[in-house]
Amino acid sequence: MIILMGLAGAGKGTQAQMLAEKYGYVTISTGELLRNFATEDQKRRMLTGELISDDEIIDMVDRRLNELQDLSKVLLDGFPRSVRQSEWLLKQIEEGRLKLTAVIHMVIDETRVRERLVGRGRADDTDAGISRRFEEYRQTTLPIIDHFKEENIHVYTVDADQTPEEVHKDIVEILTTET
Ligand code: AMP
Repeated sequence: MIILMGLAGAGKGTQAQMLAEKYGYVTISTGELLRNFATEDQKRRMLTGELISDDEIIDMVDRRLNELQDLSKVLLDGFPRSVRQSEWLLKQIEEGRLKLTAVIHMVIDETRVRERLVGRGRADDTDAGISRRFEEYRQTTLPIIDHFKEENIHVYTVDADQTPEEVHKDIVEILTTET
């Protein structure tokens, strides 16, 4: 299992797709699952950039994992997004349900990512929506990375301000050393 972390717009989706093609990784993107299967109320909360509750998200990921045959080739995108979600995930690893290959943090400057997101045109990519997600990244994703480090889980940093191919190459290198 790979955990891809980083700001919205850092290019996690693109990298997930490239890893799917090269190694057959199946992506569980909680943002994507929510966009496709969310209730009206969840959709409203997402449009304002609010987080959906941990219980709702964990339940969704748990069910998606149960549908998959090969849990060694799972890539998580957008999960965990809170310390509680990461604790749940670490428990799955401890219990042997999941095996962690690498945590990859895609790092990019906020200004650069804002330029990218405005070009993407998704419904929640408004100025306010983008600002809300930057704030959320600072408040939730960064503490999770610290939490992983405290648990002695190595977090790889990748420079996401490169072409998708260059970023992919860096990730492949990490995976080669880890497997
Ligand atoms: P993303 O596509 O990852 O940027 O996610 C889009 C939106 O879905 C976020 O702004 C949140 O409202 C919601 N979301 C996605 N993943 C999570 C998660 N793990 N926990 C809580 N909310 C999430």
